Amino acid sequence: MIKITTIHGDGIGKEVIDAGIAILEETDLNFDFIKAEAGYECFQKNETTIPEETLKIAKKTPATLFGAITSTPNEKSPIITLRKELDLFANLRPVKSFEGVNSLYNDLDFIIIRENTEGLYSQIESFEDKEETIAIAERVITKKASQRIAKFAFEKAISDNRKKVTCVHKSNVLKKTDGLFKKSFYNIANSYFSKGIIANDYYVDAMAMYLAIKPQEFDVIVTTNLFGDILSDEAAGLVGGLGLAPSANIGDKNGIFEPVHGSAPDIAGKGIANPTAMILSITMMLDFLDESYWSKKIELAIKTVLSDAKVVTPDLGGTSKTIEMTKAIIEELNK
Ligand code: ATP
Repeated sequence: MIKITTIHGDGIGKEVIDAGIAILEETDLNFDFIKAEAGYECFQKNETTIPEETLKIAKKTPATLFGAITSTPNEKSPIITLRKELDLFANLRPVKSFEGVNSLYNDLDFIIIRENTEGLYSQIESFEDKEETIAIAERVITKKASQRIAKFAFEKAISDNRKKVTCVHKSNVLKKTDGLFKKSFYNIANSYFSKGIIANDYYVDAMAMYLAIKPQEFDVIVTTNLFGDILSDEAAGLVGGLGLAPSANIGDKNGIFEPVHGSAPDIAGKGIANPTAMILSITMMLDFLDESYWSKKIELAIKTVLSDAKVVTPDLGGTSKTIEMTKAIIEELNK
């Protein structure tokens, strides 16, 4: 029995997680889904966006599926809290082109890995004065976390048979923090040259441009928290948008798997959310759980439905509902 925490959240988070569970129920694996709360609706009920109980449940299960939440002003971000509490130090966002999807590029296959526990997302902020006219955010970079994420990126390159790892930083301006990140990266890179992995680095501003004009050049990108968040949304835009962008948050013990998109209040309740990002996140979860037979089968079913382009949601130019697209993927899976 594989225990999975499910955090449905708000808006389309609830809709896509139901689609994901329907897919998992088609496998011959034995899952025990444990529902936990987080997000805006949870805040209205419990006066917290992330109850202690949710953290306790997520810590006990090897994997959590996270739908999406609507953020609550002045309250803690549930996903950032979960990443820190579970020490999910690596955030992975694959960027892959799919046949049949109208996108800027049709030949991309790289992965963005970002340090997930520190940087500008440390949530250490304060006002300098009583009038609250000067606000300060601390950007924490440690050698330990920088080396850990660099090592993770090189290991991922080896396990996925990739050849190059690119570090993204802004060490010409942020000399201490990003200086340390870059130095830690090359310290780790030294032990991978003999394994045939190339290492290079770019400033984040240049990287934003290169992603737009020559994204084929990249293989594995490793960077800090905020830069990774921004660059991976840019990269999602190159291959068909948020409806297709999955992600994983990985630690030594657990993983949380979530679509990159948010709760999309504009389409919530209409039943037209694209379930692909969630279902691709589930394939990442299955890989993490060493169930790659099913992750490959599910990815193949998704690819077929996308390339047929007959049963796809409106964001991909179709007219199908979430539930219809999910059923089409299930039909492919059962062929
Ligand atoms: P939030 O405040 O929860 O982040 P948002 O609307 O600001 O919500 P997203 O949820 O990421 O941000 O959505 C951005 C845009 O992308 C919206 O127009 C939304 O409709 C669209 N979108 C996001 N996810 C999907 C999806 N799975 N299927 C279809 N459209 C989507």
